[in-house]
Amino acid sequence: MAPYAIPDRTLREEIEDGTRAQANLCWNCSTCDSECPVYLTTGRLRPQKIVRMANLGFFHDLLSLPEIWYCLTCRRCNYVCPNLVKPASIIGFLRQEAIRRKIVPWESFLRYRNFFGRFQRIRWRITEQCISDEVTPLSPEIWTQWLETPLDDSADSVPLSTLSPSRAFRAAGERAGSSACFTCGECGNACPIFFERPVFDPQWIFRMVNLGLEEEILKSPSIWLCLACQRCTEACGELVSGHLIIARIQELALEEGAVDEAFPFRLKKAQKTIYPLFVEQIDSLLGFSPPP
Ligand code: SF4
Ligand code: SF4
Ligand code: SF4
Repeated sequence: MAPYAIPDRTLREEIEDGTRAQANLCWNCSTCDSECPVYLTTGRLRPQKIVRMANLGFFHDLLSLPEIWYCLTCRRCNYVCPNLVKPASIIGFLRQEAIRRKIVPWESFLRYRNFFGRFQRIRWRITEQCISDEVTPLSPEIWTQWLETPLDDSADSVPLSTLSPSRAFRAAGERAGSSACFTCGECGNACPIFFERPVFDPQWIFRMVNLGLEEEILKSPSIWLCLACQRCTEACGELVSGHLIIARIQELALEEGAVDEAFPFRLKKAQKTIYPLFVEQIDSLLGFSPPP
């Protein structure tokens, strides 16, 4: 007879107490899977599976699950769930517990963080290629070179355009309250992908918007790195809706031709080349066996 799972109510409640994720409301619709960028590009992370395991009380299995480290923490699964279940909150809790219980040693976690930060360089480089429509095959040599090489930040000293921003560009900032920004940097502190200014810095983007530097910002690969997690908005004491500013300038980049209409498709295709390597490298960093 096939083995079957025995739910553990005590452990299930322990997970719920630590997350308030309302996992018991999940009806297994898989909407979270269908929006998860890692699942869509690799098939290796299913938020629904994690919720299901949490509901069964499989706490110990979850703590050693490689998938919890593949998550980008974009919180898209939380936002799309029709039943307000929060898979990303479960993943965040499991990571904390895996470190606290030394299932993932602190040194391994630091290596993981360092890699995750440098992976943003790869995201920036591939986006830059997609914008210019010059996508080259991603060899292991290029992967390593991009990972190891910081971006040139000399762009900061390039003369800035003197063109006046369009009305739509000014409105993007005004509607989201960008003029209230006094550059305190709280958005950057909260942002999960802010590691290096030339790669991605939300405060820099909002500053560019406030300065009316439309041409520079609409052409920047950085704006396409945003995960839309909304943490910058939640962290801002001045009520600037940072994630909405970035979403709107992405739309404007398309509307005003800073990127061509095929760019989003190229970017999606390119992501299918980098995310499988991303999860493979995490397996190797944290000592997980690759799938058979
Ligand atoms: S979207 Fe919500 S209800 Fe659907 S499978 Fe995911 S967690 Fe469960
Ligand atoms: S938070 Fe993690 S699990 Fe949820 S959609 Fe984003 S990458 Fe996927
Ligand atoms: S929504 Fe804000 S916090 Fe989240 S990735 Fe984008 S800029 Fe960073």
